Amino acid sequence: MGEARHTRVLIIGSGPAGYTAAVYAARAMLSPVVIQGMQPGGQLTITTEVENWPGRTEVQGPDLMAQMEEHARATGAEVIADIVTRLDLSARPFVARTDSGTRWTADALILATGAQARWLGLPSEERFKGFGVSACATCDGFFYRGREVVVVGGGNTAVEEALFLTNFATKVTLVHRRDSLRAERILQERLLRHPKIAVIWNSEVAEILGEDNPPGVTGVRLRHVATGETQDIPCAGFFVAIGHAPASELVQGQLELHNGGYVKVEPGSTRTSVPGVFAAGDLTDHIYRQAVTSAGMGCMAALDAERWLAGQE
Ligand code: NAP
Repeated sequence: MGEARHTRVLIIGSGPAGYTAAVYAARAMLSPVVIQGMQPGGQLTITTEVENWPGRTEVQGPDLMAQMEEHARATGAEVIADIVTRLDLSARPFVARTDSGTRWTADALILATGAQARWLGLPSEERFKGFGVSACATCDGFFYRGREVVVVGGGNTAVEEALFLTNFATKVTLVHRRDSLRAERILQERLLRHPKIAVIWNSEVAEILGEDNPPGVTGVRLRHVATGETQDIPCAGFFVAIGHAPASELVQGQLELHNGGYVKVEPGSTRTSVPGVFAAGDLTDHIYRQAVTSAGMGCMAALDAERWLAGQE
C-alpha cells in the first residue's frame, strides 16, 4: 500500500503553466503540491535559447525552468518528482494515483500536463526511433557531428531545430510539405540564408531508409506532393518537428475535450467541464502555445482555483 496524502490544490505538470500556478497558489496560502511528471520542467528543458521571454533577451530553456522550479519552491509550493498515472474526477475530493504508489486527494486540481511531440506515423520511423530518428535536436544533435541530417516540418520548432543542428552536422536539409513556412519571420530569414541549410519544398516523407545490422538511418525517401515523384536524400539523422499533441490521456472521458484532444475551458477562464478542475498551458491552448502564454494561464488557473475554493467554504 502506498502513502495517502491530501492537498488543497494539486498541480499536475511542471512547465511554465504548472510552476506559475504553483507560485500564485502558494502566495494565496493554499500550500499547493506540484507533481512534475515524466519530463520535469516540460518542453523548454529540451530546447536551447529562448529569445522571447520578456525581460531576458536570451535565456537557456533548461535554466529558465530551473529558475521557475526554484521560485515555486521558494514561495512554499511542494514540488514532487513523480508521475500521475490515474485520475478520478467523478467525485470530490479528486483522486490522483501516482507511479510511486501515492494516493493523492485534492480539493481543487490544476492540470498543466502540456503537449508531446507528434510523429509521422510511418512504420520505418518506428523502426529507427533512437537509431537515427529523433524528435529532439537538442537531445540528440550531438550524435550527428560531421554527418548529414534531415528535418521535417515548417513551424518554429522545425526551423529552430534545423538551425541548432548546423552546430554539428555538415548539411541540414529541411523538408516541408508546402511552399511556405509557418515559422516566425525572423527564424525563416536565419534559415534561408544559412549556408549549411537546404530546403526542399512541397514534399512529404514517404519512408525512412536504413540498415538493421547495426541499426541506423541512411536516408529518407521524399515524395513530391503534386507530381508524386520520389527522391532519396542521404542522411544519418532524421528529426521530426511537425508539432505537438496535448497530453490529455489522463482526463479522456472525464473532461470535455475539443480540437483533437485539447481540454476545453470556458472562454476567458481556465474552468473545465468539471467544477474544481482547471486547465492551463499547452494542454488547453491550441492557438498560442508560448511559454509566456502558458505562464499567464497558470496564473489564471491559480486565481480561478482560489476563488472557487473560497466559494466552497
Ligand atoms: P506547428 O507550428 O504546429 O508546426 C507544425 C509544422 O509541421 C507545420 O509546418 C506543419 O505543416 C507540419 N506538419 C504537421 N503535420 C505534418 C505531417 N504529417 N507531415 C509533414 N509535416 C507536417 O508546431 P511547432 O513548430 O512545434 O510549434 C508549436 C507551437 O510552439 C507554435 O505555436 C510555435 O509558435 C511555438 N513555438 C515557439 C517557439 C518560439 O517562439 N521560439 C519555438 C518553438 C515552438 P503545415 O505548415 O503545412 O501545416
